[in-house]
Amino acid sequence: MAIRELRYEGDEILKKKSREIEVIDDRIKQLAEDMLDTMHKYDGLGLAGVQVGVLKRIIVIDLYDDVSQFVLINPEIVEKSEEMVEVQEGCLSYPNQFGKVKRALSVKVKALDLDGKKVTLEAKELLAQALQHEIDHLNGETFKEKIIPGTFEIVNPSEDGK
Ligand code: ZN
Repeated sequence: MAIRELRYEGDEILKKKSREIEVIDDRIKQLAEDMLDTMHKYDGLGLAGVQVGVLKRIIVIDLYDDVSQFVLINPEIVEKSEEMVEVQEGCLSYPNQFGKVKRALSVKVKALDLDGKKVTLEAKELLAQALQHEIDHLNGETFKEKIIPGTFEIVNPSEDGK
C-alpha cells in the first residue's frame, strides 16, 4: 500500500493538461497501484494522475460493484450520446463540495490497459459519468467549473454525521 498525497483546489496543477504515456514501464505500474490505493483510502470512485501530482494521462476508476475497476492509460472519448443528464458530482480534490453537472448519458472510450493492450469501453450512467469526470482532469478541467448555477453545496461531514 502506498498512499500518494492528493492535490487540492487552488493547486495550479489541476488546470494543467496531462501528457500521453508512451511507455508503460514499472513506474507507471507502480503509479497505477498507488492511485488505486489512494482512491480507495478516500472512498473515491475515480482518480486522475494529476490529482496525485503526475501530469500523465492515466485514470483509475472503481464503482465498488466487483466488476467496474479500471486502470486506463491514454483514455479518449470517441463517442458520446446526444442525450445528456444532470448528475450530482464531487471530487477528491474538492473535499465536501458537491454540485450538479451535465454529462453525456453514455460514452465510448478507447484506452490502453496496463499491459499495453487496446481496450474499448461502452459505458453508461455512473461509469460514463466517472469516465467523463476523470478524462476532464487529464485536460485540466474540473467539475467545479461545470457546476450548474444554484446546485453547488458544501456538505460538512461532521454535521452530516458521517
Ligand atoms: Zn475529480
